[in-house]
Amino acid sequence: MLRIEDALDLILSNLPQLKSEPVPLRNAIGRILRQDVVSDIDLPPFDRARMDGYAVISSDLLSASPESRITLRAIGEAAAGNPFLKTVRTGEAVRIMTGAPLPDGADAVEKIEVIEVLSSDAVQFQKPVKHLQFITPRASEATSGELMVENGERITPAITAVLASFGCANPLVSRRPRIALLSTGSELVEVTTTPGPSQIRNSNTYSLGGYSVATGCEVVYSGVVSDDLQKTCDEILKRMAESDVVMLSGGVSMGDYDLVKPALRELGAEIFVERVAMHPGKPTVFAKLGDKVIFGLPGNPVSVAVAFHIFVRPALLKMQGAKEIHLAVIRAETSREVKGAPPRRSHQPGSVRFEDTRVIVEPLKWGGSSDLVAFMRANCLIVVGEDRDRIPSGQIADVILLPANEGALIHA
Ligand code: AMP
Ligand code: MG
Repeated sequence: MLRIEDALDLILSNLPQLKSEPVPLRNAIGRILRQDVVSDIDLPPFDRARMDGYAVISSDLLSASPESRITLRAIGEAAAGNPFLKTVRTGEAVRIMTGAPLPDGADAVEKIEVIEVLSSDAVQFQKPVKHLQFITPRASEATSGELMVENGERITPAITAVLASFGCANPLVSRRPRIALLSTGSELVEVTTTPGPSQIRNSNTYSLGGYSVATGCEVVYSGVVSDDLQKTCDEILKRMAESDVVMLSGGVSMGDYDLVKPALRELGAEIFVERVAMHPGKPTVFAKLGDKVIFGLPGNPVSVAVAFHIFVRPALLKMQGAKEIHLAVIRAETSREVKGAPPRRSHQPGSVRFEDTRVIVEPLKWGGSSDLVAFMRANCLIVVGEDRDRIPSGQIADVILLPANEGALIHA
């Protein structure tokens, strides 16, 4: 039985690297950037007003006070996209709008709210103005030639704003992994069918499809294959031809009708991982046939979710060239005892929340690896080390945060 870290090492060191392709910026969210993006301009490109008011020379107003007001001559206007082109001289002020370039000669902006406008060409001040007040100086946000976004970053909406500002209209990103989903099990029927007495509906295809899309993949939905060696071999081969990764669920345990590993052996695949010291998810399989990747996940819906997040998600991100492939781990206080499963490391579904300054994690009340109804409410996995049979209530535990609503981000 492999340790989780050793299994992950084997997986991560045997993955193909996908090619890159340019995409229009509006389609880039959720993709992995495969180039460094360098700024092509200073940002802002000029000293920019941060308030609506008047541009002034701060030394003109040093002695201004309510008792000794100073009047300046208003000589023109600067608006965003429409600068004032002459130079401001002592005794003068220019009406300025947010986003406009500071006129030459001026070194500060005072906001309109504290200025008395006496007439169209006279404005009065009753306090001094600091040098550079209400100005965002040229290049204070970025300097031309500076590295802005690194190769391997996952593109978020905020990152697209940066790419847009520096003229990166068609960023180079990783090709999406094509992933074929295959559920194995003679008991499985599709969502539109009312199950017979010994049947259940196929649910893994939907959770795995969603997780895969949220990880940047294109999903090929391949349906259900019955527990038959020849059919399983045929389906794997057929799906391999149209995808980078074939992800099976079910059929990897020790039952007589668990035929995924026999099928992989029959096809001559190299099996790197087949038993991992984790709970749930022990029988997770990782294999390769040529440069195609095959994952065999356990059939139980919660095991599927755990194995996906621990092994498959990092693999799919690594294939895309992502530099951050693991989920965030935080530390939280347990609200109840959490059971372990020595000698395996356990991942118990939980719900993490903030209470004032405390971070509390509540282990879900669940009936085991098949309890997909309870798992629906999980937002994290509570880690119980392989050497512990429980974490008592009120103790600190490591908590893996499950990604929230990333799918929405991908389809934006
Ligand atoms: P297996 O790993 O094939 O022994 O399956 C373990 C359990 O998960 C069995 O109770 C299966 O019926 C169930 N299962 C397998 N595949 C699916 C699926 N696609 N959707 C829902 N449950 C499944
Ligand atoms: Mg089965």
